[in-house]
Amino acid sequence: MAIFPKNSGWIELICGPMFSGKTEELIRRLVRAQFAKQEVAIFKPKTDNRYSEDYIVSHNKRKIKSIILESANQIYEYKSKADVFGIDEAQFFDHSLIEVCNNLAKNGKRVVVAGLDKDFAAKSFGPIPQLIIDAEYVTKVNAICMVCGDPASFTQRISTEKSQVVVGETDKYEARCRNCFEI
Ligand code: ADP
Ligand code: MG
Ligand code: ZN
Repeated sequence: MAIFPKNSGWIELICGPMFSGKTEELIRRLVRAQFAKQEVAIFKPKTDNRYSEDYIVSHNKRKIKSIILESANQIYEYKSKADVFGIDEAQFFDHSLIEVCNNLAKNGKRVVVAGLDKDFAAKSFGPIPQLIIDAEYVTKVNAICMVCGDPASFTQRISTEKSQVVVGETDKYEARCRNCFEI
């Protein structure tokens, strides 16, 4: 287990493809902070309305209360209300999220961010690459390739849509390894 800073906040980044357990891991860390009686504020972008308006929900059905935001700057409204900030589906926020996370960390907050590093074309997704650079702690998780069973770090779109943001589930995406991923 990492030893966290005593004199400042920090950023933890959890990234990987769809179905890799990012949300599961985010929820695990935030629930533990709640057990430690820390004030936790949890956010997700409006784009992701897959399961629930009020909760972050993982594919294995764990959930935790969250606040839906139109823009990352709205997080500042909660600055004085929490010690720990959790952000899921961070790839859907614009680049202003980078400054928000760094500002919170600079001001003593623990910031735990989860998001897709690669989009369906295996290109970098939104603010995640810069947050990988800025974070003190980076956790990259793999899913299991639905074709061959190897570790999967790619998200295969199995529908025919072409825009970067197409919200979907197993109807539209599956985890694939490097070998089985097709552009
Ligand atoms: P993410 O947020 O990265 O999309 P979740 O945390 O929501 O992932 O879900 C992880 C869970 O998804 C796993 O614990 C497992 O139950 C389920 N799952 C479904 N498909 C896969 C897959 N191909 N590889 C690994 N886990 C999968
Ligand atoms: Mg997720
Ligand atoms: Zn494979």
